[in-house]
Amino acid sequence: EDEKQKYIKGKKLGEGTYAIVYLGHVKSDPSKLVAIKKIKIQEDYKEGLAPDAVRELKHLQELSHPNIISLLSVFSSRDQNLNLVLEYLPLGDLEMLIKDIEGVRYGAADIKAWMGMLGRAIWFCHENFVLHRDIKPNNLLIAADGGIKLADFGLARSFADPYRVMSNMVITRWYRPPELLFGARSYSGAVDIWSIGLVFAELVIRNPYLPGDTEVDQISKICALVGTPTEENWPGVSKLEHYAVPAPATPIQPVAHYNSMFGTAGAEGVDLLMKMLILDPRKRITARQILEHGWWKSEPKPTKKQNLPKKG
Ligand code: ADP
Repeated sequence: EDEKQKYIKGKKLGEGTYAIVYLGHVKSDPSKLVAIKKIKIQEDYKEGLAPDAVRELKHLQELSHPNIISLLSVFSSRDQNLNLVLEYLPLGDLEMLIKDIEGVRYGAADIKAWMGMLGRAIWFCHENFVLHRDIKPNNLLIAADGGIKLADFGLARSFADPYRVMSNMVITRWYRPPELLFGARSYSGAVDIWSIGLVFAELVIRNPYLPGDTEVDQISKICALVGTPTEENWPGVSKLEHYAVPAPATPIQPVAHYNSMFGTAGAEGVDLLMKMLILDPRKRITARQILEHGWWKSEPKPTKKQNLPKKG
């Protein structure tokens, strides 16, 4: 329980929508740097929450994988806030690389390497019955060895945001799958696969593929650019609580559409992307099937991580 005694908190590194991040180090070894992420918990929700949250987050500490950020410790501070002690990764994230069109050049082999690491990370999460629920380029941090690490498990967010007051304004909806937009209550690892598909698409076109302005607009963009969810392509969808789609329905986009937009990923890459963006979550490709896909064996071979582009 004296976890907080083990770390010394230093300067503020940054502030996100639901957390403040500080630099820190291990008390017994100042050369070991860490990031201490203090989750902002709403005052009226604090009572008795932190101990539960700490217990729930503890199991994430056991999730040890080269492409998942290490959660070194979890503790609640005197003010009942949740503190996550994380591996320190100061080299930015995939969003920065995607957006720096002038400074960062990358190609099909680099995308394949990043997607491979992301695929292995999410396979590992799902094998261990953990859903991420918030995969986006900004949550893929660059490690010193050039690899990427999945950060910011949505679980932490759900503690900071119990009443979902932020969900309409700040938290990005661009990577949210149709089943969540339609209010499905029980969902599966398929939610993460949809998000991975959109990261893949964005890496290729260097722009978000489905940048909806509102939840309604998000659904419109899915209908227009992927296809309209209907009883024919997704049995049962019309019974979901918030099911509403624009008329007339748009057919599922054919392979020619994906080839014209994402052709630089090659035929196998386009095939994989289309399977990640299958509307019906039960038919969507699984993390295991992703790792077995032919894209990994086709040319070009993925770039070695030490040769991946870094921020220019
Ligand atoms: P956001 O999701 O808006 O980036 P975060 O709360 O995750 O917000 O992080 C805020 C800032 O803190 C980030 O932009 C980054 O500069 C820094 N940061 C977050 N996590 C780490 C980490 N593990 N190592 C180094 N810096 C970090």
